[in-house]
Amino acid sequence: MADYDYDLFVIGAGSGGVRAARLTALGGKRVAIAEEHRVGGTCVIRGCVPKKFMVMASEVSHALEIAEGYGWSFDNARFDWPTFLETKDVEIARLSGIYVANLGKAGVDLIHGRAVLRDAHTVAILGKGEDGADRIVTAERILIATGGRPWTPADLPGIEHAITSEEAFHLPELPKRILIAGGGYIAVEFAGIFAGLGVETTLVYRGPNILRGFDDDVRSHLAGEIEKRGIRVVLGCQHTTIEKTATGLLNTFGNGHEIETDVVMFATGREPHVKGLGLESAGVELNDSGAIRVDEFSKTTADNIWAVGDVTDRINLTPVAIREAVAFHETVYRDNPQRFDHEHVASAVFSQPPVGVVGLSEYEARQTLGGEIDVYLARFRPMKYAFTGSEERVLMKLVVEARTEKVVGVHIVGPEAPEMIQLAAIAVKAGLTKAQWDATCAVHPTMAEELVTMKDKQTPASVAVG
Ligand code: NDP
Repeated sequence: MADYDYDLFVIGAGSGGVRAARLTALGGKRVAIAEEHRVGGTCVIRGCVPKKFMVMASEVSHALEIAEGYGWSFDNARFDWPTFLETKDVEIARLSGIYVANLGKAGVDLIHGRAVLRDAHTVAILGKGEDGADRIVTAERILIATGGRPWTPADLPGIEHAITSEEAFHLPELPKRILIAGGGYIAVEFAGIFAGLGVETTLVYRGPNILRGFDDDVRSHLAGEIEKRGIRVVLGCQHTTIEKTATGLLNTFGNGHEIETDVVMFATGREPHVKGLGLESAGVELNDSGAIRVDEFSKTTADNIWAVGDVTDRINLTPVAIREAVAFHETVYRDNPQRFDHEHVASAVFSQPPVGVVGLSEYEARQTLGGEIDVYLARFRPMKYAFTGSEERVLMKLVVEARTEKVVGVHIVGPEAPEMIQLAAIAVKAGLTKAQWDATCAVHPTMAEELVTMKDKQTPASVAVG
């Protein structure tokens, strides 16, 4: 057998790459990991974690409104963006440091620099060798975990004036007005963040309603709720130009609409980070959507190279990348072939109010299960808002396959929906029936008790609005 520098070389120190590197090194193998930016990847550095801090900072304004309903008063409550940014960045640095320390404790060699494949067993770390030459490293196996990055329409005139989520984490000051283009996770999450922080926020989406792919009741309910929180939602609108004017940025749309704003943020999707990786020289092929083609064990078209996480564009979520990395490790290094099961993965949209979803939408259930579907749906005012005069409503929906009586989809829009859906996901993954949900005694008074007390199948007249 050839003598390689390492047993495993991982490209990309995000959630998936770090997990695979640590497990494999802890198992006694010689492992290196290369990272061109900061250790932690999208999730820790420019995604889930800083986004959640921003959501939490933004939600305080709503909490203050509720508090006033309960008799509290706040003189001079104000928010200071630079203070928040500084605190957030200290915390992100701390978390990144923990990742670095954990790699070190596991015995992984951390290499700072951009890694490029030269062939199936050789990696060059650009400019990191002697006298600025490339450093060449060989490995028996390679794992690509380079994640994704924001995609924007490069041919849109004026796109250079737009930012993406990456810059939104570091705006030098909060704008007075922001326009967010897109109707997916990132668009609705950042619209909520900026609106909560007092920025005049407009969400512009090309389709008929936000969050395409989610259950239709969730989509319409959330669109209504975010409008109640002051976000202007403009649908059926596609950008044609962005122009800098003396007073801001003028956005023009295909239907003739014009909207002026101070900051334009594009949240129009993310693309696998494969450019310039040298995949062709190693025999690693892409699929039709430009992601690395992998089999169910995350193996690429090259025999000794695997890929996990967003670069494979399966389900682009941190916990999925981690599970794919664990399955890779078990399969390759522990003689325990494992495929990560991508079915029934719960997810949350940290909009305000947030969304929690697991399983099938009503539409998907009707399309794929080929039989009768029962739907249970409730809309009600959460108890917390009773003193506030708030018009906000929670939505809870169960989708049940009538033949087996299994709950195949759970959809929640409302406070703490992400926390609730994590637990509901256990029941959906376990294939429990509606009768088993109902046999579970309620916890009172909570919002979640509605999930085990929904009795009436939905007919248009039976939808309760509390
Ligand atoms: P999404 O794929 O969720 O949404 C992209 C949005 O951009 C869609 O509304 C899409 O419209 C729109 N769009 C695409 N192309 C264009 C275009 N040319 N012009 C105008 N609009 C366009 O991507 P995000 O960037 O929001 O998020 C990327 C992924 O990251 C998510 O899918 C998710 O997997 C992950 N993520 C998860 C989060 C979480 O778990 N909370 C948070 C953030 C991201 P259309 O629907 O019509 O195609």
